[in-house]
Amino acid sequence: MNGSSTRSGPALRIPRTIFSEEHHAYRDMVRKFIAAEVTPFMAQWEEAGQTPREIWLKAGAAGILGASLSEAYGGSGGDFLFDAVLLEELGRAGAAAPAWDLHSHIVMPYIGRYGTEAQKQHWLPKMASGEAIASIGMTEPNSGSDVQGVRTSAVRDGDHYVVNGSKTFITNGIIGDLIMLVVKTAPELGARGISLLLVDTSTPGYRKGRNLKKVGNKAQDTAELFFDDMRVPVSARLGEENAGWQMLMSELVQERLIVAVRAMAICEQALESTTDYTKSRKAFGRSVFEFQNTRFKLADMATETQIGRVFMDRCIEMHARGELDMHTAAMAKVWTTELQDRVLDACVQLHGGNGYMWEYPIARAWADARVHRIYAGTNEIMREIIGRQL
Ligand SMILES: Cc1cc2nc3c(=O)[nH]c(=O)nc-3n(C[C@H](O)[C@H](O)[C@H](O)COP(=O)(O)OP(=O)(O)OC[C@H]3O[C@@H](n4cnc5c(N)ncnc54)[C@H](O)[C@@H]3O)c2cc1C
Repeated sequence: MNGSSTRSGPALRIPRTIFSEEHHAYRDMVRKFIAAEVTPFMAQWEEAGQTPREIWLKAGAAGILGASLSEAYGGSGGDFLFDAVLLEELGRAGAAAPAWDLHSHIVMPYIGRYGTEAQKQHWLPKMASGEAIASIGMTEPNSGSDVQGVRTSAVRDGDHYVVNGSKTFITNGIIGDLIMLVVKTAPELGARGISLLLVDTSTPGYRKGRNLKKVGNKAQDTAELFFDDMRVPVSARLGEENAGWQMLMSELVQERLIVAVRAMAICEQALESTTDYTKSRKAFGRSVFEFQNTRFKLADMATETQIGRVFMDRCIEMHARGELDMHTAAMAKVWTTELQDRVLDACVQLHGGNGYMWEYPIARAWADARVHRIYAGTNEIMREIIGRQL
């Protein structure tokens, strides 16, 4: 068995069958790339509060940023399973940054699906090469879960929109070259008055605020942004005017699934590394693993992680065929991210004091992953979505 099945260690016995030889080869390449180009620099990037352009260009050159993008726009033309491989490897390596998921698996698909030919030609090749870093600007100081409450306005003035307002918590907001901005073009229409604009961040009127200090994921910049009479050409609008809400809804399945894919990989890695740690750590003359409490805790984690893996592989497979629905994607996000928090909390505990030390990957994973229950729609919103369909 190749790739992730062996990496899941002896705890998970059900073979993974969704990947082809090409996916396994891609996984090997990605794993080596992360080990050589990401992991050694993580502490440095955490200190800086952002990732350097150089790593984006290297990832672009390695074919990591456009694995599932059409070859016509500089990608490799692969399926979603390639995206899943990258997310799993980032999760296993504890690489919460760079935010390649947001760049390649959220913004890129919007442009690929709804962009005009000119927009695709302008942005996609540069995104695939790492020359253009993308972000998405939805959340505002007074509207997060309630996207309909967005107040940033875009008022038509000839062949431009004049944009005023602010956003917060924007991943890649500091280092980004492109922001897919959620604006109100017809405030009186509520959700039906939302439009999406592809804004070059060098546009006059685009102003960066603080790079916010976070509990985890410290190498990823998370910004406040302000827009003061920012003039954006009408040709930069994605899709039709006031059609933003439908576009946002259509892409949420993937946005939620990718969080779940990463969360599941984090569970596997935490289980594996904590099992190893407890076998090597001694207390009262024996290994920590030999205490029944430890084995019971690990057994519970192994059982739930195995169950989660089977469910997730089915979701990944269905999504690659375009068959995963909003309801199931919400279930995947809720269940895996809550499993992830149970597993990580128990793993920190089994590491004792070392589990609370930043230099230990388990401590970082615990802090980094907490946000998974909050972004891409909070888990409470996921439960609303699931409940509504019952
Ligand atoms: C590290 C990080 C990165 C982020 N990156 C981005 C980004 O790149 N772009 C972007 O646009 N946003 C980003 N966000 C924002 C994120 O999407 C929001 O924080 C999230 O959607 C929640 O919104 P909120 O913070 O306003 O919380 P609120 O909406 O104020 O929610 C507060 C609480 O109320 C609950 N709640 C709200 N509504 C309901 C309801 N109807 N039923 C039950 N409970 C409810 C929530 O679940 C939550 O527990 C990021 C956030 C973080 C922390």
